[in-house]
Amino acid sequence: MAYILRATAANGDVRLFAAITTDMVEEARKIHNLSPTASAALGRFITAASMMGVMLKGEKDTLTLTMNGGGPLGNLVAVSNSKGNVKAYVSHPEVDLPLNEKGKLDVGGAVGRNGFLNVVKDLGLREPYVGQVPIRTGEIGDDIAYYFTVSEQVPSAVALGVLVDTDISIKAAGGLIVQMMPGANEFLADIITFRLQEIPPLSQLIAEGKSGEDILNMLFDDMDLKIYEKIECKYECDCSRERVERALIALGREELNRLYEEEDRIELQCHFCNTKYVFEKEEIKNMIENL
Ligand SMILES: [Zn+2]
Repeated sequence: MAYILRATAANGDVRLFAAITTDMVEEARKIHNLSPTASAALGRFITAASMMGVMLKGEKDTLTLTMNGGGPLGNLVAVSNSKGNVKAYVSHPEVDLPLNEKGKLDVGGAVGRNGFLNVVKDLGLREPYVGQVPIRTGEIGDDIAYYFTVSEQVPSAVALGVLVDTDISIKAAGGLIVQMMPGANEFLADIITFRLQEIPPLSQLIAEGKSGEDILNMLFDDMDLKIYEKIECKYECDCSRERVERALIALGREELNRLYEEEDRIELQCHFCNTKYVFEKEEIKNMIENL
């Protein structure tokens, strides 16, 4: 089970989100047949998207995270909701690169560094909230931290980790977002930065069996740590035959007529979960007649 902890430290001056997402990332790996490098990239990406989803205030709000740094993975897309549930895809899930100079999966090289990280929040208003920052390292954690700090003006540290097992299944995955609230003591950020650098990588801690509570305690137990909520979340696609049919109808009479004449049947596949929806010629005819 994947989950997110919502917590604070230092009398509320520090806002914390800790996620254990091993199962969620393993589900994404199975659905998309991700290579180890793609698992690390998309795994970090959906871990961040899930925590950012939980930050949404309205129950029906959604968040769409996209990133394209011009690297061989192509587009990364993740959609999350206020429950922390996520669906995602990557253009080239088969892309696998040699380990980088640190001996780690080369997420930065696979994502690339020439492009943008985009955040779109649908808050049920007429216009969605849109934020964009240039990609810094392509390692994703740094890029999300940069987004929060520059675009939302909330100084943040983001740690994301995915450990891929020798059989290429996901051994451990998780993340941590640390945010300084307005008026927080300047030294607090420095102390937290030191501590984050001192602890072993998150994915290693999670692989050793540490829980989200354990990790928060390692970092903040002397800082008035308060854990408020544990939110269970998962990889979940909300597509359905009805939704796909509505999208087809939205193409309009002309395009449907063309499809009816040119195709024996229409086969559409959901990007997020690979479910196939097949519409026979007769059904297309009915759609046109019902327009
Ligand atoms: Zn789907």
